[in-house]
Amino acid sequence: MNTIIERINQHHFWNFHGGIHPPEQKTLTSNKPIKQLSLPKQLILPLQQHIGSPGDLLVNVGDKVLKGQPLTKSTNPMTVPIHAPTSGIISDIKKSVIAHPSALSELCVFIDVDFEDTWQPRNICQDFTKLSSEQIVSKIADAGIAGMGGAGFPTHIKVNTKPNIDFLIINAAECEPYITADDLLMCEQSEAIIDGIKILDQLLNPTLILIGIEDNKPKAIKALEHATKNIDKIRICVVPTKYPAGGEKQLIKILTGKEIKSGALPIHSGIIVQNVATCFAISDAVINDIPLIRRVVTVTGQALSNPQNVWALLGTPVSHLLEQTGFTSESPNATPPVIMGGPLMGFTILNELVPIVKTSNCILAPSKKEMPSAFDNNSNEVECIRCGQCAEVCPSQLLPQEMQWSAKAKDHPQLLKLNLFDCIDCGACAYVCPSQIPLVQYYRVAKAEIRQQQQLDIKAEKAKVRFEARKLRLEKEKAEREEKHKKAAAARKATMDKKTADGGTASSAVAAALARVKAKKQAIENNNDAPVADTEEQNDKSQVQAAIARAKAKKLMQKKNEQEQTLPSSDNSKVEQATSPADDKKARIAAAIAKAKAKKNNEQEHSLPSSDDNQVEQVINQTDDKKARIAAAVAKAKAKKNSEKEHSLPSSDNNQAEQAISQADDKKTRIAAAVAKAKAKKNSEKEHSLPSSDDNQAEQATSQADDKKARIAAAVAKAKAKAKVNAKKAQEQKDLLQVSNSDNTSPLKSSNEELE
Ligand code: SF4
Ligand code: SF4
Repeated sequence: MNTIIERINQHHFWNFHGGIHPPEQKTLTSNKPIKQLSLPKQLILPLQQHIGSPGDLLVNVGDKVLKGQPLTKSTNPMTVPIHAPTSGIISDIKKSVIAHPSALSELCVFIDVDFEDTWQPRNICQDFTKLSSEQIVSKIADAGIAGMGGAGFPTHIKVNTKPNIDFLIINAAECEPYITADDLLMCEQSEAIIDGIKILDQLLNPTLILIGIEDNKPKAIKALEHATKNIDKIRICVVPTKYPAGGEKQLIKILTGKEIKSGALPIHSGIIVQNVATCFAISDAVINDIPLIRRVVTVTGQALSNPQNVWALLGTPVSHLLEQTGFTSESPNATPPVIMGGPLMGFTILNELVPIVKTSNCILAPSKKEMPSAFDNNSNEVECIRCGQCAEVCPSQLLPQEMQWSAKAKDHPQLLKLNLFDCIDCGACAYVCPSQIPLVQYYRVAKAEIRQQQQLDIKAEKAKVRFEARKLRLEKEKAEREEKHKKAAAARKATMDKKTADGGTASSAVAAALARVKAKKQAIENNNDAPVADTEEQNDKSQVQAAIARAKAKKLMQKKNEQEQTLPSSDNSKVEQATSPADDKKARIAAAIAKAKAKKNNEQEHSLPSSDDNQVEQVINQTDDKKARIAAAVAKAKAKKNSEKEHSLPSSDNNQAEQAISQADDKKTRIAAAVAKAKAKKNSEKEHSLPSSDDNQAEQATSQADDKKARIAAAVAKAKAKAKVNAKKAQEQKDLLQVSNSDNTSPLKSSNEELE
């Protein structure tokens, strides 16, 4: 280590293998200050401008954005955001051709510039030494800084490390012909570059900071020496001009003598390399809060009337740069060749709308005289003569001729064995090839194919991992389902067992329920039967009551008969008592007549109601139909007639008795007449009471006899009853005349005399 530092302090550096000394052609732009270009009308910003992954969009079409506003973001460490280089409107988001040898199209954000160049609010840092390492790294990451020397590796990852760093190497070699962007940047922005280097020193704290710069940049050397004169930790290392001294590994070799082996990184040797343009971007980001939205681009070539370095906003179309630098085509009808990058490491762009990105350091528009091969569409390639010159100049100590055979054969494994990816695309081999074989183009295509295949392999591996994970997940879910089903089955079985254990109760409950239903049904049936029984019982009771009523009625009738029979006997005894003292014939005759009359009336009165009752009952019992109602009406009429007859009978008797009394002069006759009168009155009262019930029954029957026949039958019955009464009256008058004719003395008069 001490030997290395001593050699550095003595400016005794090392040399790397190979290399060439092509014409520099730097004077076209090296003596001109960096030009500030006018704003283009439109900016085209690819989402990915670095090694890594593109970020996620934060804007949509139509959004108004301010200068410095982030357009993408991502939590992926290998992603750096992009920002709006100026204010404007997001006019489109679509795929567009990007700055790449393959002329691939990638997703780009199109911004229509509003020419106001309005900044978003910024936070200027007055003293970055007070910032923590995390804050610095965060600022670098948020600013979207990637290596500006050509590789485009995310800077925040590169500087976010804490191993022991021996050397922080600042790459200021800029060995590519024509390119003077870093040279002019160092001349004009040496203080800002040194601020960036100080920030890196604060982060990495290396043992020594080495600024490697070729000796063909005297103004830049002076500017750096002036800016670092008070910084002991920084060494300005001026190295001989040799292409590609600006290569990372080559510069490490030159300054430290260390060789970074294939597949190894400089950090493994305690070395970190940063480009001077990256240091300037770090300073802008940490101190001025300006993201990476611009860079110095060398626009050169003899096809330009005013080639020079310009401050170009990222996303500026190449056509705009050419216009600003006085592009003139030698052939108006021919498409001028434009190369992005230097003549050795650059590539021809087929569309002048290709934008400037973070890794774009040069736009070369050569004249036909200057670079005839760029205008020659016909390939001058011939077979390799195995001269070996390509291997002699290869700084990576590769076998270019071998790789070109494998590249043509697409033998990727062999290319990997030949360390294809150690090739830095310097183009030195192609530059010296006598067969004019575009070796670098073959390597680039091979690298792209291998990367693509690696991406496919990675995707396939990820898909395989996802498939295996899915398979495991499905198996796990299946096992979980089976376990769940087992548990559910066990739970069901336990429930069934429990139910079985409680089965008696359950069965009993069911049986009880069935029994209740059955009982209820039986009860309903019983209830249905109960009315029948009740009815029967009621019928029985009714029958009993009817029997009792009949018995009472019969008894009453018997009692009535007895009373009626008793009354005539009393009358007879009275008559006998009246006649016995008289001992005369008329009295006895009158008594006999009265007795006979009373007996006859009694019999008649007894027979009539019973007969009428039977008839009415028969009629009522038979009155289910019309004929029955007619019969009932007839019976009623008949009963009514009898009743009227009976009513009229006493009056007739009374008249007859009065006539007998008035005509009887004797006491006996008047007694007999009085007896007859009383008997008649009593019979009248009986007859009057009995027919009333008959009348009610008859009325009920009559009320049902509405037709003509019933009325006719009633009229017939009435006529018969009237005839019967008339016959009876005639018979009684006949009897009275017979008695009066048989004896001159009136029995009634005898009776009256006896009473007096
Ligand atoms: S093989 Fe690669 S590294 Fe070697 S000289 Fe050719 S381009 Fe350069
Ligand atoms: S320089 Fe060209 S011709 Fe010579 S060995 Fe290499 S590839 Fe072949």
